[in-house]
Amino acid sequence: MTEVSWERVVPPVPENPDVVIIGSGLSGLTAAAYLAANGKKVLVLEQYDVAGGCSQTFRRKNEWQFDVGLHYIGGVRTGEIGRIIGGLGLNDRIEFPELDPDGFDTFVFPDLEFKVPKGWDNYVGRLVETFPDEEEGLRAVTDVMRNMMEELREVGIPDSDTDLKEYVEKAPTVVSWGMRSMTDLFDEHYLSERSRAVLLGQAGDYATPPSRTPVTLHSGVVDHYLHEGAFYVRGGGQEMAGHLVDLIHTYGGRVRTHAEVERILTEETGSGGYRVTGVELAGGEEIATESVIATGDIKHLFLELLDPEAVPEDIRNTVDGYRMATPLVTVYLGLDFDITDRMPATNYWLHSRYDQESYYEPVAAGEFDADPPVYISSASAKDPGHEGHAPPGCSTLELMTWATPDPAAWGVDESEEAPKYSRQDGYREAKQKITDQLIDRAEEQLGELRSHILWEEAASPMTQTRYTLSSGGSSYGIELATDQFGPLRLEYRTPIEGLTLGGVSSRRGHGILGAMAGGVESASTVLGRSLRTEINEGTVFGDPSQLTSGAEGWDALEACRKLQEKALRA
Ligand SMILES: Cc1cc2nc3c(=O)[nH]c(=O)nc-3n(C[C@H](O)[C@H](O)[C@H](O)COP(=O)(O)OP(=O)(O)OC[C@H]3O[C@@H](n4cnc5c(N)ncnc54)[C@H](O)[C@@H]3O)c2cc1C
Repeated sequence: MTEVSWERVVPPVPENPDVVIIGSGLSGLTAAAYLAANGKKVLVLEQYDVAGGCSQTFRRKNEWQFDVGLHYIGGVRTGEIGRIIGGLGLNDRIEFPELDPDGFDTFVFPDLEFKVPKGWDNYVGRLVETFPDEEEGLRAVTDVMRNMMEELREVGIPDSDTDLKEYVEKAPTVVSWGMRSMTDLFDEHYLSERSRAVLLGQAGDYATPPSRTPVTLHSGVVDHYLHEGAFYVRGGGQEMAGHLVDLIHTYGGRVRTHAEVERILTEETGSGGYRVTGVELAGGEEIATESVIATGDIKHLFLELLDPEAVPEDIRNTVDGYRMATPLVTVYLGLDFDITDRMPATNYWLHSRYDQESYYEPVAAGEFDADPPVYISSASAKDPGHEGHAPPGCSTLELMTWATPDPAAWGVDESEEAPKYSRQDGYREAKQKITDQLIDRAEEQLGELRSHILWEEAASPMTQTRYTLSSGGSSYGIELATDQFGPLRLEYRTPIEGLTLGGVSSRRGHGILGAMAGGVESASTVLGRSLRTEINEGTVFGDPSQLTSGAEGWDALEACRKLQEKALRA
């Protein structure tokens, strides 16, 4: 960390930016940071009033701080997240406290508890100890998952330049299992319902039914944490966004909040196609640019922001047909005691049953699950000693599950004359019901909580849509499934000249890693060279000695707020 004290410096909004980035989540900010560090004049436009998208934290009463969408990440040292922040010279500025290496995830089933330890050998050993009668099948399944990730580390994901013959030789597991489902893999090795459920214990990280979960996806998630451990970000998720915003501003780019893009402006190229000429904001302001990276919701992009004639029919149909991922519900609690007395630095996954496929049936039917699974995370447990999360002696706790986005199930009257959804009694009752269910279940694990609650609120799929404009309340973009995964997703370079895709529905998918790695791909597409290769070779872009983020007085949330057109003093 630098010795200088932090001073918030916000440059003016650049005129005629080289690249406009729609959305200030980690996809957009990573793309903008790499472009700014490579000399491009960038402008990030964010519709909300704080930058960071799902990686944000929010504060209540100046006492409590809650995370929206960063509860744990992997690969922060030698892995891909570590390399991406390293390529910007940020890796000694952001600290990552490690979760319990003997059990960073703890799966609690009706009659079984399984702690996931760091390291593939430890993990496989514990699986075999738990299910000795299934040793052969478990070893075969985990071999496929592990080999696939080793191969991908070695040769990467194939693209249009890949020599396929060579790829088949070097990555046989990826070729044979990459796009098949976890259910197929389990069936092939006759695993029991119980061992399958334990292997899928953290599937809420992507929320896809096992029959549609690509082996590559689940292996990637498991490996992401097993490989070098699971980590939190000291100070909370907003730190990541704050450092990137600061870097973009240091290199003369700008993040502008309260700036919703309502249209991407295009013109005909003369050869039957369309090219980008600018964007139009809510309120009518137009900003001219020849290059736009769009990281928000993919349906919103192709079906609303662009004029219909600019979107080729096959793309319109493909995007229209995409299924969104199952959305999440979160309950945020401020508690009057020190949670480290009741839980280690782990995530609890409280499973109500072993049949993992059945979790998704109520969602498909537009109903609530009578007994939903519950995920428990606490920044106070993962980042003990950091003062920002809760008052001294107190703690924060986040409880999550997934649920239908169907407004009718949430008691929302969508008619024009109805009040805003959040003011409707039906909605409030539905939200309180699920809140109570999650707290009841958490009490079974952590002991009595209700008499200790000093702050309570909940976020539904509608909340997610309100804050990020996502379709169907999804925070994971389009469902990561065997029929809309990898090459079955759209390419970063779209057929509209100057329009580059980014965000969770692009090929690298969702999660902090997916968002940041996708940001690198979007920036690479604009620059016409592979930044991933340069980062992996150890290139550091820009001049990190100019950066002041993380110094004394640093406040990541302050770095991300008050960034409207004329930035206000922090
Ligand atoms: C409850 C929850 C828990 C999670 N937990 C984890 C976790 O522990 N680990 C992990 O790795 N991942 C986790 N995730 C997922 C991860 O946070 C996200 O996948 C990732 O942050 C998405 O980044 P993004 O930039 O692609 O999208 P977003 O963060 O959604 O950013 C998109 C931004 O674009 C803006 N926008 C959209 N349309 C427009 C427009 N027209 N004009 C201007 N701005 C626009 C939105 O307001 C938003 O700020 C979680 C997510 C949630 C919601």
